[in-house]
Amino acid sequence: MKIFNLAGTVLKSLTHPAATRLYPFVPRVYEPKTRGHIEIDIEKCILCGICDRRCPTQAISVTKAERSWSIERLRCIQCNSCVELCPTKCLSMGTAYTDPSFGSVRDSFTQAPKPEGAAKPAVPAKPAAVALPTTPTSADDARVPGDA
Ligand code: SF4
Ligand code: SF4
Repeated sequence: MKIFNLAGTVLKSLTHPAATRLYPFVPRVYEPKTRGHIEIDIEKCILCGICDRRCPTQAISVTKAERSWSIERLRCIQCNSCVELCPTKCLSMGTAYTDPSFGSVRDSFTQAPKPEGAAKPAVPAKPAAVALPTTPTSADDARVPGDA
């Protein structure tokens, strides 16, 4: 009886589509909001170090003197904090997962040397503060119309 069950399973496997992909020949399609890996547009970075200081796993390292930014991929937990905090919005979350590896993987990015007097990347302006109406004081109440 077991031999018939086995034959049935084999036939089912042969006639149904594969349940898995033929990795790595068939690339994975990631969902649009998958938190895969951090990407940087290094030329927009102002090397302020906020991402370095606020990363909960110390995955990011910013070296201002060398104009470089680096990330240790296996430390990153894809929390997205650095993306949200970056003042120039040069960080983003890519959807693809990084390749499997045995050891630590540190990806480094270095800015191209800038000519003397080149403009710095712009930091998006904060919205202007709205002035609140002032409460009249007793001095205002005592003022006679026509007074300066
Ligand atoms: S996503 Fe989170 S853990 Fe990863 S580098 Fe940014 S702040 Fe660090
Ligand atoms: S927070 Fe943004 S601008 Fe500042 S060092 Fe990090 S990536 Fe560069």
